[in-house]
Amino acid sequence: MDLCEFLRSSYTAYHAAENAAKMCEEAGFTRLREQEIWNLQDGGAYYVVRGGSIVAFRFAKGGKFRIVASHSDSPCLKLKENAACFDGTHCRLNAEGYGGGLWYTFFDRPLALAGRVIREKGDALTAELYTSDFRIVLPSLAIHQNREANEKFAVNLQTELALAGLRDTSVTDMVGPYSAYDLFLVPAEEPFSSGANKEFLTSPRLDDLMGVYTSVSSLLAAKPSSDTLVAACFEAEEIGSGTQSGAGSDFLRNILARISNAQKRGREEELAAYSSSLLFSLDNAHAVHPNHPEKSDPTNRVVLGGGVVLKAHAGGAYTTDGMTAAIAKKIFSGAGVKVQTFYNRSDVRSGSTLGAISMRAVSIPSVDLGVAQLAMHSASETAAWSDIKELEKALEAFYRAEIEFTGNEATVK
Ligand SMILES: [Zn+2]
Repeated sequence: MDLCEFLRSSYTAYHAAENAAKMCEEAGFTRLREQEIWNLQDGGAYYVVRGGSIVAFRFAKGGKFRIVASHSDSPCLKLKENAACFDGTHCRLNAEGYGGGLWYTFFDRPLALAGRVIREKGDALTAELYTSDFRIVLPSLAIHQNREANEKFAVNLQTELALAGLRDTSVTDMVGPYSAYDLFLVPAEEPFSSGANKEFLTSPRLDDLMGVYTSVSSLLAAKPSSDTLVAACFEAEEIGSGTQSGAGSDFLRNILARISNAQKRGREEELAAYSSSLLFSLDNAHAVHPNHPEKSDPTNRVVLGGGVVLKAHAGGAYTTDGMTAAIAKKIFSGAGVKVQTFYNRSDVRSGSTLGAISMRAVSIPSVDLGVAQLAMHSASETAAWSDIKELEKALEAFYRAEIEFTGNEATVK
C-alpha cells in the first residue's frame, strides 16, 4: 500500500489501524492479542491492535527500545446516537466536533460516513469497520443569505448539520442493523499532487497519517537491531489522548513491560532500559504560511521543502530537550537528512502533541519530530513531497543507528 492509498482509505483511526495491520501482515509480522499469553521469539516481528491504535515491533533480546510514536486520528464530525433527523423534507445528521477541526473547510465537499459499527449476532457482539459507498455534504448558506460570510464565517456545529437525503432515513437504513457505533463524517477526497511542478501532496488527514504510514513502513523495512524497534500509533490525540487506547493510556507501557518480560529481564533491568531508550514523537509542524509569514517565529523559519522538523517548546508542549535534540541531529547528519527547528511565536499559545502525554505513561528520552505542512486541521492539508522523503530517510536512520545513551552522554554510530 503506498502513502496516497493509505491516506485515502484510512478514513478514521480504526481504518488506519486496520490498514497498518494489513501492511504488517503482508510483511510477515504476527498479530498478538493483549488478552493472550505471548511467546516472543528473538528476531520476531509482531503487532498489537487496541481500538484505533496499533503498536508494531521487531523483538530483540537487548533491553533497550527505539520507538516512533504517531497518531491515527484526525479532526472530523462524530455522529451522536439518534443522529438522523427528518423535518418533513430533509434528513440531516446530528454530530459533534471531534477534535479542533478547521470547520469551515468541511462545507460543500464530499464527506464519507465511516468508523465502526457494533453488530449483534446471537450472543456475540462484533465490531466491524464501516465505510459508506455514498457521500454526504454539509451545505453552506448562500452568499446572498449571509452577506458577511467573507468577513466572518462562524460555525455552529449544532445548527449546521450535514444533509443525508430527502427521505426519512435512519442510521440503520444507512449502515444496517447495529447495537451501537462509533461513526464519523470524514473528508472523502482523493489525495493529489499540487503545484506547477507537482511539489506538494494535498490530502485529508496528512496530520498525522503521514507519521503513521512512514513509521510503520520504516519499521517494516528496518533490519534487525540489538534494540527492540517499535512503531506506536495512537488514536485520540485530537481529543487529548485520555482514552483507553490513547497515548496517555497504559497501552504502550504494557507492551514494553511484556517485551521486557519475554527478554527474561527483571523489573530492575526493565527500568534501567527505559532510561537509555529513545522515542521520536512524530507529528506535523506548521510551515511558514506564504500569505501570513508574520504568524511564525522570526528566527526559526520552518519552510515547505526544508527537511524534517525538530519541535521545541519552553513550556514542555514538545518533548525535545538539548540532549535529545543533539542525538537526533547527529543521527540525521550521518544520514544526510535536512533538519529545521520549529518554535511557536512567544506570544502564541502552543499546540501540543502525544509525546508529552505519552511521557506520563512511560518516560523515555524523547524528541518531537515532524514534517512541515500548511492548513493543519483543514479537511485538506498540504505538505512537500521532498520533506516526506526526508522523513523516510530520518526514520530509517533512527532504526538503523547504534545509540548508547546514559543521561548526560551519548554515542551515535
Ligand atoms: Zn497531529
